[in-house]
Amino acid sequence: MNPNIAPMLGMYVHIPWCPTRCIYCDFNTYVEGNPDLKAGYQAALLREIRESGSSLKRPPLNTIFFGGGTPTTLDPTQLIKLVDTVSAAFNLQADAEITTEANPGTLSLSYLRELRQGGINRLSMGVQSFSDYELKFLSRLHNSREARKAVENARAAGFENVSLDLIFNLPQQTLEQWLSNLYEAIKLEPDHLSIYSLIVEPGTPLHRQVAQGNVPQPDDDVAADMYAATIDTLAQAGYMQYEISNWAKSKGEPDWETPALASAHNLIYWRNQSYLGIGAGAFGTVNGKRWANVKRPQSYMGRVGTGGRLGLARDEATFETLTPQTAMAEHMMLGLRLVREGVNSQAFEARFGVALEAQYAEAVAYGLERNLTEWIDSPTGPRLRLTRQGRFLANQVSVQFVE
Ligand code: SF4
Repeated sequence: MNPNIAPMLGMYVHIPWCPTRCIYCDFNTYVEGNPDLKAGYQAALLREIRESGSSLKRPPLNTIFFGGGTPTTLDPTQLIKLVDTVSAAFNLQADAEITTEANPGTLSLSYLRELRQGGINRLSMGVQSFSDYELKFLSRLHNSREARKAVENARAAGFENVSLDLIFNLPQQTLEQWLSNLYEAIKLEPDHLSIYSLIVEPGTPLHRQVAQGNVPQPDDDVAADMYAATIDTLAQAGYMQYEISNWAKSKGEPDWETPALASAHNLIYWRNQSYLGIGAGAFGTVNGKRWANVKRPQSYMGRVGTGGRLGLARDEATFETLTPQTAMAEHMMLGLRLVREGVNSQAFEARFGVALEAQYAEAVAYGLERNLTEWIDSPTGPRLRLTRQGRFLANQVSVQFVE
């Protein structure tokens, strides 16, 4: 069997608007308000999509991911116009995964029907918690009833691939409180779950509250207990953990295989394949070159208005041509996040022309000796992956591959 995974190309489209800002958010987002700005930004996105497709000569495209921000602050017609423009500028594959992130408070049945009929086939909902107290603390605008209703509406609108985002280890949250959130999520039978520990990012209101002593710093030991309980609870409920923070409903895939309901778009990142970043601040990596677009929406719009090529809005300070060393190290760090498929050593050698075990003898030994990584057999060759213990210490393993 060929160990290589077919090359894929994905596209991330950044929608930077939110109705308000959540206290923990450090994403490139802005409170919406100026309709002219939003209209100008939409026009710039359309232009960057067309110019990118034309520069790359309309290549096959496997995934589109609308992220933000809150993409569902756009009218359905605007999101569909973006999909249609991508479809004209790229050879969008018939089985392409087209995801939008969505905030539960804004998802009426008619809105979701329009999205589904317009070709969006996957929803990633930022539920975060089923406790109204916790949602308020996070300054989310929806409540738990609206989150449940949004999932119901998504199913009624024909979405067969629904993912929920949850956050654990909120200040003073107990293990029992976290597990009750998780049970609520399981009851809704999502196809996929993305679950993250709360990070107190510098520059956020949450960071200031923690620094002033008004809110306790989240506890790392509690986080580890919650993560362990999450792994066990979701396994019992029929979900496969395929990435450090991601689970998908199991269809009985073998031990080494990533489940079919995994996020195809995010797999492109973790498998170290190519993706385009469209919109303000969006990152892309294409043909061994990487860059981010300029960050502020107004600057982005100004750049897109003047150019006519791939990368027309790029921030030159971020541009880099990946060296083989960087590409190999990133391949390891990203691939090890995939806790089932890991890194296939034969595919590594075919791609980089050097054996994984020879290139990274010490780093491989480090993980194996500490029971943080393991080799497993698969029909396409041996794979190096994290052990259960290694999932708790993934950064410690990854850093060994940076020279
Ligand atoms: S909805 Fe998401 S992107 Fe928007 S402010 Fe909240 S965390 Fe940030």
